[in-house]
Amino acid sequence: GDITLEQVREFVWEIPQEGDMRAPARVLASETLLEEIREDKTLEQITNTTHLPGITNYAICMPDGHQGYGFPVGGVGALDAENGCISPGAVGYDINCGVRMMRTNLTYDELQGREEELVDSLFANIPSGLGGGGVVEAGVDTVDEILARGVDWALENGHAVEDDLLHCEDEGMREGANPEKVSQKAKDRGKNQIGSLGSGNHFLEVQRVTDIFDDEVGEAYGLEADQIVVLIHCGSRGLGHQTCNDYLRKIEQQHQGLLNQLPDKELAAAPAGSQLAEDYYGAMNAAINFAWVNRQLIMHRTRRVFERVFDRSWEAMDMHLLYDVAHNIAKKETHTVAGDERDLYVHRKGATRAFPAGHPEVPAAYRDVGQPVIIPGSMGAGSYVLRGGEHSMDLTFGSTAHGAGRLMSRTRAKNEFWGGDVQDELEEQQQIYVKAQSGATVAEEAPGVYKDVDEVVRVSDALGIGDKVARTFPVCNIKG
Ligand code: 5GP
Ligand code: MN
Ligand code: MN
Repeated sequence: GDITLEQVREFVWEIPQEGDMRAPARVLASETLLEEIREDKTLEQITNTTHLPGITNYAICMPDGHQGYGFPVGGVGALDAENGCISPGAVGYDINCGVRMMRTNLTYDELQGREEELVDSLFANIPSGLGGGGVVEAGVDTVDEILARGVDWALENGHAVEDDLLHCEDEGMREGANPEKVSQKAKDRGKNQIGSLGSGNHFLEVQRVTDIFDDEVGEAYGLEADQIVVLIHCGSRGLGHQTCNDYLRKIEQQHQGLLNQLPDKELAAAPAGSQLAEDYYGAMNAAINFAWVNRQLIMHRTRRVFERVFDRSWEAMDMHLLYDVAHNIAKKETHTVAGDERDLYVHRKGATRAFPAGHPEVPAAYRDVGQPVIIPGSMGAGSYVLRGGEHSMDLTFGSTAHGAGRLMSRTRAKNEFWGGDVQDELEEQQQIYVKAQSGATVAEEAPGVYKDVDEVVRVSDALGIGDKVARTFPVCNIKG
């Protein structure tokens, strides 16, 4: 039926607790975004989430929220790690899908006129598309090492420098990763995809910085106007997808009792402390490491491409990792809840961690200003760099939005847009050069399928969960 929302204050809406809900749900949105959120099953899904045991404070829908598998994309659910549960659908299929931004010291002036050469070279050298093939081809032994050690493996094998680890969440290595809990089938799917974008929504975009909103934080992040930066969006490929699928099936079989209490089978969850909860957590952490290595290998390959195109070493172009943020994970974190310290599985699905200044888990380089947060818009609109806001711990378990958020389904997008036309328009009207493996992908990802990223960021900034630092605009983009 119709879901009633009560306004708590500007940009904060609540779905009150009733019936079998174990907590209220909250939606963080402007009225415009809320209207868009109302168009699909997002509100129903965020309400369903409050039925999960151990849900703490409230389930949260971010301003970019839209319908997903069971749990909305743009959802945050903190579930008690002792008495609650963990839910693969509330993490998402593409485990540790995420974005990373790399800086350069090139300016837009230096790049103009060479966009096509650059985009062609990136497209030729960065593996993408549905098919197999990555930066490295590995045996299952290597996959196991990547799953256990993450970017540390890349460092040892010449695909990373120490500085890359220092600018990644958890230094690119998730503790508690258990490769033994990742199935053979998942490893087989991943082994020839290490260092590959994949298809659909994943991309590599060269951008220019158009605005700096906060000079002090901008400086701490090494960002200034007209600078060229690179944004890489991809995840754990077939390995993560298979892992999610494996555990959903196992949980459905072994935890029928809990499943029967939930309003949606897609929310299937393993009770905290059960063997399957431990196994899934170990497997998910391993898939997180795999995704970090994937983005790392693509970034390092991008350095080589720039070296060839601009005839300078990547070090001379100052091509350093700014930061890497995860979109789809559950993490055991300690949060203060009503004055008590509690261990929670914080599920962030299509949501980004946004820890504020001073938090011990923010990398040392950024601890004084807060964690960088990267919010992509679309291939025809701006993207943002934010910093974790001072209210994020109180309001959102240290989280904010992850993008503009999808406005229409892929099927509808393919009826409304034609890939070739979208590409021509971007080039002619906005000087944005897009190259993709398939025209259908360009249609599915056309700028018009996404919401207004400026509006999403306005809400994040006003609530103080992620504050505006800089805005970028696309120069060229490759897609699967
Ligand atoms: P998701 O992780 O949900 O697939 O996507 C995250 C966000 O990336 C989307 O909500 C959308 O705002 C943004 N996005 C999708 N395609 C592109 C692109 O080609 N370039 C940029 N800059 N952003 C994109
Ligand atoms: Mn993804
Ligand atoms: Mn993503």
